[in-house]
Amino acid sequence: MNMKYDVIVAGGGLTGVAAAVSAARQGMKVLMIEKSGFLGGAACNCLVNPFMVYTGEIDGKTKMISDGIFREILDKLQVLDGLHRNKVTFNEEILKVVLDNMCIEAGVDILFHSYLSGAVCKDGIIESVSVVNKSGTQSYGAKFFVDATGDADLAAMAGCAYQIGRESDGLCQPMTLCFRLSEVDVDTAFRNHDKINALYAQFQKEDKITNPRENVLKFVHMSDGVLHLNSTRIVRKSPINAKDLSDSETEGRRQMMELFTFLKENCEGFENAQILSSAAEIGVRESRMIKGKYTITEQDLLDLTVFDDAITACRYSIDIHSPDGTGTYMHEFKPDEYYTIPYRCFVPSSGAENLLAAGRCISATHEAQSSLRTMPTCACMGQAAGIAAALAVQGGVSAANVDVKKLRKILQDNNAFIGEKRSNEKKETYQ
Ligand SMILES: Cc1cc2nc3c(=O)[nH]c(=O)nc-3n(C[C@H](O)[C@H](O)[C@H](O)COP(=O)(O)OP(=O)(O)OC[C@H]3O[C@@H](n4cnc5c(N)ncnc54)[C@H](O)[C@@H]3O)c2cc1C
Repeated sequence: MNMKYDVIVAGGGLTGVAAAVSAARQGMKVLMIEKSGFLGGAACNCLVNPFMVYTGEIDGKTKMISDGIFREILDKLQVLDGLHRNKVTFNEEILKVVLDNMCIEAGVDILFHSYLSGAVCKDGIIESVSVVNKSGTQSYGAKFFVDATGDADLAAMAGCAYQIGRESDGLCQPMTLCFRLSEVDVDTAFRNHDKINALYAQFQKEDKITNPRENVLKFVHMSDGVLHLNSTRIVRKSPINAKDLSDSETEGRRQMMELFTFLKENCEGFENAQILSSAAEIGVRESRMIKGKYTITEQDLLDLTVFDDAITACRYSIDIHSPDGTGTYMHEFKPDEYYTIPYRCFVPSSGAENLLAAGRCISATHEAQSSLRTMPTCACMGQAAGIAAALAVQGGVSAANVDVKKLRKILQDNNAFIGEKRSNEKKETYQ
């Protein structure tokens, strides 16, 4: 076995980076394992942009709901000119550098181009993980592990129970290949939003467009003349089945060409459009989620629950892109509404005692996950998981026995927002 670490973080997305940096800042020797050649996860692998809602109105004032390490990332992006004036669109090339620098400064060891391929467990403890890369197959040991792979790969390898997709039929939200068009008259494209969508619907009716998405979903980009499209939709495929995933990549590119041709040939402002880039990987909204000590539900979100063991808050909409085909269900929270996420959702109910899942693969129902999966919230969940991992190592305790009061205090000391008890609160306690 190679060197032994205090904490190994699997996956270098926003969750993983926040976890690794936060654990290292608590004095842990940390290794992060990432299959790509850069950090940032979906933001960089899948060209996901922009950051969804991360502020709210509390007591009449605008407040960061996703604060702490996420605010730090935003500030660092801004300093390097990587944040748009709208404060939500960002340059993922600069994000990669920001995240590199945060890890270097915190002393996190990173293994890029390294695929986590297995876990060795004994008596409910993960002793080591194996990694496949250019050096061959290697094994790394640690006292504690954080699964930030998005797909709960490590939890599954360690034998933890998990669920996938919606309860009724196991279908996940669709996958989407994001892509960008250059040389677009962006103002005209946004001005003609309704016209474009009416024509798109007509083309769908005439079977000239086979993409099941109900409209064209587009966003501004950092660069003038570039349009970001999050508008392909691949349904009824499993993101954890290699063949389904492979077929989805091909179908994503087919839909990209279909949309590009439709826009270029029929819509004002796209006459000179070119395909600038498509994501290196198709975007997966939902896949495995661990079965944790608690599973957060849609009702918890609608009740705006502030849990006793809350570690972050969120007010992004419940936003379910239809797993079957057409349609998107959306419940928007009012500006002064938010819910919280309890620590217990990170703690596997079975399988491994020295493991936390964080990010989009925590214990949640399909409906609840559709809201908490957004990037700002994932960064905040990562911060909590990293500090919790450090507390577990320092105290020699399992994930389930981390001192949550201490965790919440350290989070607050590090500028995280963990929610505030309201007078009309639904009472919620935990063991
Ligand atoms: C199409 C799409 C559109 C979205 N739109 C938005 C949006 O507009 N705004 C928003 O805020 N959020 C959006 N989201 C949600 C958001 O991007 C993700 O939920 C979030 O980035 C998840 O963060 P994460 O760190 O948990 O996982 P990820 O970002 O997926 O990171 C996981 C990391 O682990 C690595 N990894 C995985 N498996 C292994 C392995 N076995 N070995 C080694 N490394 C591994 C991956 O390469 C990756 O870097 C969107 C998601 C998708 C797919």
